[in-house]
Order: sequence, then structure tokens, then C-alpha cells
Amino acid sequence: MTHHATAQRTAEKLTTTPTTSTTPAIRLRSLTRTHSTGNHTVAALDNVSLDFPQGTFTAVMGPSGSGKSTLLQCAAGLDRPTSGSVSLGGTELTGLSERRLTLLRRERIGFVFQAFNLLPSLTAEQNVALPLRLAGRRVPRARIREALAQVGLGDRVRHRPGELSGGQQQRVALARALITRPEVLFGDEPTGALDSQTGREVLTLLRDMVDREGRTTVMVTHDPVAASYADRVVFLVDGRVHGELTGATADAIATRMTTLGSPTPKPPPTPTLTPTPKPPPTPNLTTTTTTTPTPAPAPAPAPAPAPAPKPTPTPTPTPETPPC
Ligand code: ADP
Ligand code: MG
Repeated sequence: MTHHATAQRTAEKLTTTPTTSTTPAIRLRSLTRTHSTGNHTVAALDNVSLDFPQGTFTAVMGPSGSGKSTLLQCAAGLDRPTSGSVSLGGTELTGLSERRLTLLRRERIGFVFQAFNLLPSLTAEQNVALPLRLAGRRVPRARIREALAQVGLGDRVRHRPGELSGGQQQRVALARALITRPEVLFGDEPTGALDSQTGREVLTLLRDMVDREGRTTVMVTHDPVAASYADRVVFLVDGRVHGELTGATADAIATRMTTLGSPTPKPPPTPTLTPTPKPPPTPNLTTTTTTTPTPAPAPAPAPAPAPAPKPTPTPTPTPETPPC
């Protein structure tokens, strides 16, 4: 079809952006995304700058509502930031028309969702073939079968989603996301609906694809064990980056998560310049040495209670544009 042929040519043009091995797969600069509801505005993302280097696996963690899904959707061209920039292998996304953005998503980005989002009336192989069909490309059956074999489903090609377990459905979704050989694979809680054993199988697959094929992967998760499969964990709080860990164990990640919700430590009080009348010296009961004169031996503030360490699961995301 002419339309498809044109679409394909445009997509090819989009993929020819010169990149070097040092160009990050995704670069986010001063990314802000606000939502206005009635008379109040929520900053889902607030001035986020991050690089996701090629061939790396990054997990994004943070409390519910911290902006994880918004970050992923902006980075994947599914949502448009209010300000700032998103660049995919050197292609700036923010200025692209809807049509070009759709083509870019189709050709260069893979996305898997917590809820799998397979089409129930299609078989596994038809679901996997869909992104190529949408792009008007030939669908070599061998390639589809190979993709399904790669996720361990070579013997389930004719099954419909209803005839597959959750883990199998997510693996079909993974094969579908990877069939176009995208530059970046995004997953929004891809193991969130799976039991831990099945979740680990999917995580092992993701890890293998990073290690064997250099597939850049960015995954949102609540689960420290899932995050420990990644090379790096980026933490978000209230739409802002709150540090990161590299090569961390699940325990270290879980510990970090428990401290995320606590208020940021306040800077120490600046010493007052006006001399205050000194109280009579009292014996200093603490071991801290301080040069700041304290007007009265105030009791130390009670430490804030530690937040509950359990991450609460977010509601199932309802993406608008599956499959991309
Ligand atoms: P997370 O994935 O970390 O749970 P989200 O990215 O879904 O967080 O949301 C971040 C913040 O933005 C939340 O406060 C959420 O309520 C708000 N938000 C997200 N999408 C919308 C929307 N379409 N309209 C209004 N507020 C939204
Ligand atoms: Mg979310």
C-alpha cells in the first residue's frame, strides 16, 4: 500500500540519525510534566535529567504517584512533557508531529505493560506479528516463530492469550515488543501481575536480552528483587530524581526504599549573627560538639517514624495506545 510504503520510508529516515556508541539510548533533560485538574496543578515529573546508556538495564523505583509511569511514557514518546527534552539515540522527540512520533514508537521503541495488553482474539504468533503488520512490513513467519522460541514459547504459537498462563502471556508481549528490534525496551511493572517464580523467569529473559543483544532496557518496578536484575536503580520521589544505586543487591535496594519517603534532612540551622544572651552553661549531655550557641538545652527532636517498608502496588496502568 502506498501509505504504508511512505510510512516505512519516513520511519527509515527517522532511524538514520547519526549516533555514536557514546550517545545515550535515551537522554532526558529538565523533563517536567504537569497535570491540571480543576484549579490545581500536579507536577508528575519535576525537572528530571537522566541518561540511559546504550546496552544497559535500568530500574526505576519510587512510591506510588512518584512519577514512574509518567517518566516511562514521556521517555517512550507515549506522553508529551510540559517542558524539557527527550532524545532517543540523538533524535529529539519533543518537536515531532503525532504521526512521526507514532512511526518512531513503532520502529524504535518496545513497551511492555503490567496488564500484557494482548489482543484476546489473536493467536500468540498473530499478536507478535502485529507491530510489523501495523508498519506495513512483511511478516516472515520464521521470524515470528524465532521470537516466540526466544521467550520459550516455540510450542505455543497457535494459542490465544486465554489459553496461556500470565507468565506466558507476558512472554508473548515481550516477543511482540521486540519483534521490530527496538533500540529501547520499556516495561511498566512488567512482572507486577506475575507470581514471583514466573516474574523471575521474565526478568531472567530481560537480563539475557541486555547481556546477549545489548538491548537497552528501562523497567519500572516496586519489587527490590526485580530491580536487582538491573545494572542501575534510579529512585523517584514526588516527580524528582532521588539518587540511584549501581549493582545493588535486593536487600540494599529494599533498605534504600524504606528511607525514600522520609522528609529530606533539613540543613543545619545557620548560626544567628545577633548575640543572644547566653544561658548559664549546662553540662553537654550529647557527644556532639557544636560551635553554635544554643539558647536553651532543647530536647533533641524525636526521630521521624520510619515509613512502612512495604511498597504499595499501584493500580494497573491503563495505557491508551497499546500496542505501540
Ligand atoms: P507512579 O507511576 O509512580 O505511580 P504516575 O506517573 O502514574 O506515578 O503519576 C504521578 C503523579 O501524576 C500522581 O500524582 C498522579 O496522580 C498524577 N497523574 C498522572 N497522570 C495524571 C493525569 N492524567 N491527570 C492528572 N494527574 C495525573
Ligand atoms: Mg505507575
